[in-house]
Amino acid sequence: MKLYNKTIHDLHEDLKEGRVSSTRITEDVFQRIDDVDDQVRAYLTLTRESAMESADEADERYRKGDFLGQLDGIPMAVKDIFMTDGVKTTCGSKILENFIAPYDGTVVAKVKDSGAVITGKVNMDEFAMGSSNENSGFFPTHNPWNTDMVPGGSSGGSASSVAAGEAICALGTDTGGSIRQPASHCGVVGMKPTYGRVSRYGVIAFASSLDQVGPLTRDVRDCAILLKAIAGHDPADSTSAKIPVPDYPSLLTGDVEGMRVGLPEEYFGEGLDPEVEELVRAAVTILEKRGMKPVPISLPSTRYAVATYYIIAPAEASSNLARYDGVRYGVRYPEAKGLMEMYKKTRSQGFGVEVQRRIMLGTFALSAGYYDAYYGKAQRVRTMIRREMDEAFSKVDVLLAPTAPTAAFPIGDRVDDPLRMYLSDVFTIPVNIAGVAGISVPCGLSSEGLPVGVQLIGPSFKEETLLNVAYAYEQERGEFPECPL
Ligand code: GLN
Repeated sequence: MKLYNKTIHDLHEDLKEGRVSSTRITEDVFQRIDDVDDQVRAYLTLTRESAMESADEADERYRKGDFLGQLDGIPMAVKDIFMTDGVKTTCGSKILENFIAPYDGTVVAKVKDSGAVITGKVNMDEFAMGSSNENSGFFPTHNPWNTDMVPGGSSGGSASSVAAGEAICALGTDTGGSIRQPASHCGVVGMKPTYGRVSRYGVIAFASSLDQVGPLTRDVRDCAILLKAIAGHDPADSTSAKIPVPDYPSLLTGDVEGMRVGLPEEYFGEGLDPEVEELVRAAVTILEKRGMKPVPISLPSTRYAVATYYIIAPAEASSNLARYDGVRYGVRYPEAKGLMEMYKKTRSQGFGVEVQRRIMLGTFALSAGYYDAYYGKAQRVRTMIRREMDEAFSKVDVLLAPTAPTAAFPIGDRVDDPLRMYLSDVFTIPVNIAGVAGISVPCGLSSEGLPVGVQLIGPSFKEETLLNVAYAYEQERGEFPECPL
């Protein structure tokens, strides 16, 4: 197997035993980027030089036998939403085209402290608004399984870089499905941890009550390794939880005998591609073989989740994005005569169509006279969805559902139909609304040869349970086919 296609845990063994150096792995990954990125277009910025330096430092540590853990010396791609000291950080937007981050966000600092080798910054939908990467202010990323298809979004660069061997693992963010949906479309594992599990300090904000950072990896063990490295309380983020971080990798026993898996009927209805349904139901059978008991369950408020999300997320975004006015951050359009004109020109030329649509939706929903009818109501529905989900977890250990209603769709297919695009996230959005944890694991290929993911959803701060069920599933499923690129 090529080095660039290996897992974190296998490479770590190779490094420890001196069978390979981090320099070699990193060179291999960059060679792979040189070979395929003109087709995939996952990267916005490459940090080749600093990567080679980090790799060298990692090799030195391995030589001395004082490596920093399993991530030491492992090439990792970082979504361009993370502040990365001294490196261009655009959030996929023209408005931040020239922005160099002045510090490392907490998560970036943590992975660097774990010895990870940052290969560069990867593409995304502008300000993480989108499900296909077509909203990137620069260019769309392609799905490495079939380059006519979207990779999903908004962490499409993260998912495709891992799938294509252009990184061993990647960091993403998930506000309504942006880790899990591209993971599903690209045949990789992607996890959105519980809200509060990972610090958001230094993550460019989209919708602050929903945003969460998480790993995209080749398998479940790698996901556990990366989650362990990034999770935990951070004094710089008051919403990060003061709850100890379990040693996720060591808790992967694969023993799920007698556990209950809930099948919410609302996730298997209208709009679900029959082929996807078949593959997802096959995953239930696999878990049954491991001794899990399927339990039919109903979450009737699921149908309100997308509508609720499209009030709350744009409302928070309209407020978060007010800071991009040409005064302090990023691009300013200088030909303007007065302040008002400068604001208007900067924002209308700097933001893309979808971002402007969200700002308008959010501003409207928060306007005097409408606030209670829209934002207030959405918050009440949110509470209902959360209670229903909590209630479900008093009956079952995890829930199982499709990650996305279809496999990856063709580039250009949904760009003119925002509502259809929004529905790509029907099965992932409720998890963010409830604040619980979700993971997507590859469960098969469609007849067109495109990957499909199964989603497991678990209660707050029980990522170890979720990972263990995902691990048991993966063991029983066996090797997933390698991306043909
Ligand atoms: N696709 C959803 C949106 O456009 C979710 C994006 C995300 O999770 N960042 O808002």
